[in-house]
Amino acid sequence: MKPISEFYDLLNKSTKTKKVVITMHQKPDGDAMGSTLALYHLLVKLGHQVQVISPTNWASFLDWIPGAQQVWDYEKTRMFSDPCIKAADWIFCLDFNVLYRTKNMEPALLEAKAVKILIDHHEQPQTEAFDYGISIPGKSSTCEMVYDFIVSSGHRELIDPDLASCIYTGLMTDTGSFRFPSTTASVHEVIADLKNLGLVHSQVHEHIYDSNSEQRLRFLGHSLLKRMEVLYEFNTAIMTIPKADLLTFHTKTGDTEGLVNYLLSIEGIRFGAIVIDRDEERKWSFRSKGDFDVNEFARKHFNGGGHKNAAGGNTGDSLAETVQKFKRVLLDYKSALN
Ligand code: 5GP
Ligand code: MN
Repeated sequence: MKPISEFYDLLNKSTKTKKVVITMHQKPDGDAMGSTLALYHLLVKLGHQVQVISPTNWASFLDWIPGAQQVWDYEKTRMFSDPCIKAADWIFCLDFNVLYRTKNMEPALLEAKAVKILIDHHEQPQTEAFDYGISIPGKSSTCEMVYDFIVSSGHRELIDPDLASCIYTGLMTDTGSFRFPSTTASVHEVIADLKNLGLVHSQVHEHIYDSNSEQRLRFLGHSLLKRMEVLYEFNTAIMTIPKADLLTFHTKTGDTEGLVNYLLSIEGIRFGAIVIDRDEERKWSFRSKGDFDVNEFARKHFNGGGHKNAAGGNTGDSLAETVQKFKRVLLDYKSALN
């Protein structure tokens, strides 16, 4: 993978319209959707033909992001998406480190002849899969990196309020609204610049956080009351969501997002884990405070990865089996968690 700075020449010297695909990890979050759409607006302004393709569907609280209506869901548009990926000159891969995080899209990406560019902040990227790229795990968000990309490639003047709100979305969601240690001085500097360029940040907060359905709040209440277990000896809290709950509360994509953060809000809790009984797999989300490395934990035991304080994983085991395994494995971390 060559440094992204070498790609700026290709970007700035290409006089012809390029066919561009931008993609992200499956079940995109605010950072994945915000960063891909920020880049989309830039490349459209530069005169390219751009299609954003998400490997799967996404939460409806992201639908307001400028450009989201033009994003294709790969699982529903393979007939158009596959030829589009095949014909692309450039494919940008944002907010993921390994191709399998694009789920069913992986084979199409592997086959594509396009120049592939990675912009991401997860640990241990699969660098051999990309021609150009930048991977900085210390960055707060991929959105911050897209801001850097735009400014460093000489296009700051193309940031308008819509593009600014795309960037702000990922900055805000990936830093837990600017609380996590990843919120560096440069995060605040980027936001100051976006404000000067016309960002209305309060609208972004409202769209993302004040858009709950009644059902979602009742699901949250039920999960906290009935599905949470606090393991004080390990400074750990775990939440187990059976399929029946997902059906009873008619949960939609995104309704379980953020649940895991409630576990860490209990005083003294340093490790929070939630497992959800999805159709195709049991999906884990891990969060920690301080030195406990959930990226390593997820890689070692649950086929996953991510960041030091936020990671995920998955398994084909049943819900009961995987929770048993979690508790068994946890025994080895008692001292690390105390
Ligand atoms: P979340 O718990 O919000 O789904 O994910 C937390 C972090 O871990 C995100 O940065 C996400 O990209 C990463 N992550 C989640 N699940 C997986 C997984 O199965 N494999 C890998 N490598 N990373 C994951
Ligand atoms: Mn991210």
